[in-house]
Amino acid sequence: MTDAPRPYQSYVYAYPHKTAYRPLPHPAPPLAELWADEPKDALSLYAHIPFCEVRCGFCNLFTRIGAPDELTTRYLDALDRQASAVRDALGDRVPVRFATAAFGGGTPTYLSAGELERLCDIAEKRMGVDLRAVPLSVETSPATATADRLAVLAERGATRLSIGVQSFVEAEARAAVRPQRRADVEAALSRIREAGVPVLNIDLIYGIDGQTEESWVRSLDAALAWRPEELYLYPLYVRPLTGLGRLSPTADREWDERRLRLYRCGRDHLRARGYEQVSMRMFRRADAPPQGADDYACQTDGMIGLGCGARSYTSSLHYSFDYAVDMREIRSIIDTYTETEAAGFARAQVGRWVDADEARRRHLLQSLLQARGMSVREYETRFGTSPFADFPAELGRFEALGWLDREAAAGLLRLSPEGLAHSDALGPALFSPAVRAAMAAYEPK
Ligand code: SF4
Repeated sequence: MTDAPRPYQSYVYAYPHKTAYRPLPHPAPPLAELWADEPKDALSLYAHIPFCEVRCGFCNLFTRIGAPDELTTRYLDALDRQASAVRDALGDRVPVRFATAAFGGGTPTYLSAGELERLCDIAEKRMGVDLRAVPLSVETSPATATADRLAVLAERGATRLSIGVQSFVEAEARAAVRPQRRADVEAALSRIREAGVPVLNIDLIYGIDGQTEESWVRSLDAALAWRPEELYLYPLYVRPLTGLGRLSPTADREWDERRLRLYRCGRDHLRARGYEQVSMRMFRRADAPPQGADDYACQTDGMIGLGCGARSYTSSLHYSFDYAVDMREIRSIIDTYTETEAAGFARAQVGRWVDADEARRRHLLQSLLQARGMSVREYETRFGTSPFADFPAELGRFEALGWLDREAAAGLLRLSPEGLAHSDALGPALFSPAVRAAMAAYEPK
C-alpha cells in the first residue's frame, strides 16, 4: 500500500472553493445573460445571513458578531434589492421554479422574529419560492433558537432546523471557544422539538482539546436522546485567522490519529443506533422522513445565492461577492453590500468559470464523497467519457491506498470505509492544477 496522506486537509463542501474565485474582468457579466439558457425548473435558493452572537474559535465562515439592529435592517433592505434584481434577470421566457430553499450563515436566527418574517417574504414575494411546498432548511444556535423565532419558521414552512451544538460537555465547548451552558443547549433543543419542524439536525465536533472517546460518546448520547433525524460530525480544524488558529497554529500526526479514532468511534456508535452514514460527516436516522435537500443538493448547478456570503452556480460560472475571514474585512464587505444599488446586483462580480474538465471533477467529487458512491453509467451519459479514462492517476492512487470499495456492485464507484474516513484528503486530491494554484495564490484576509 502507498503511504497515506494527511487525513484532514480540507472539507470539500463546494468545488471550486471560494478562494479560487477572482474578481471578474470588466465589464462584469450580466446575470440575465448568464442565466438565459440555464434550466430553471428546479432551482435552489440559498439566503446567507452573516451575523452571529459569538465568533466560535474554529469558524472560518463569512460572518460578523454584534451587528446592531440598524445593520440587520439595512442588510435585509439590500437582500430585497438583490432578490428583485436577480428575479428580473431570470426572466419569464420559461417558468422559474424553486425546488429547495435554505437560510444559512452565520446564524439566520440572529434576526428577530419580525425580521425572519421579512426574510421569508423576500424569498416568496420577490423570488417566487413556495416555501410551504419545498424543503426549507434553516440554521440556528442555542441562544437564538427562541420560541417566537421558531414559531415563525415553522409557520412559514421550515422542514429542517440545524443547530450547532459542537459539544454537550461544557469544558469542551469552552476549549473550542464557543462557551455555552449545557442547560441552555437542552432548553433550545426542547423548544425546537416543540416547534414541530420535521427534521432536526445537530452538529457536533470531534478533536477538541481534552476530548476523549468517553466524553465524545457522552456528547453523542446526549444528542441521541433528542432522536435527531440527522447528525453531522465535524472534525475540528485549525484554520488561519480563526480564534483557534491564533492560539495553536500547528496540527500534528498525533492529532490526526486522535481525530481518526474519534471519527471511527462516532461512526460506529451512530450506526449501531439506527443511523445510516450518508457521507463522512452526515448521518441520517434510518426511519427519518425523506428530505429533498441535504449537503449534496447545495452543490448542484442551478443555485441562486442571496446575501453577501452566498454563492450562485450556473453550469458555467460560479460566482459570489468578495470573501474574507478577518473581522475587519468582513465588516467592510458587509457595508459595501448594504450600499449596493439594484443595478450593482444585476452582474456577477467575483467568480470562477467552470469548463468541461472542472465539471467532470466536480461531478466525481460530489458523487464519490457520498457513501452511496457514483454510478459510472451516469457519469458516462453526462460527459460521454469514462471516469477511468479521465482520472486514471487519481483513481489508481485511491485504489492503491485501499480507498475504493472492491466489493461494490459492477458499475458503481464507491469509497471503502477507509476511503470515506479520508474524504478530506481524497477531495483535495481531485482538484485541478489550475484550481489548486488559484487557492494557493489566495491571500487570506
Ligand atoms: S460556527 Fe456557526 S455560530 Fe459559530 S461563528 Fe461560525 S457561523 Fe457563527
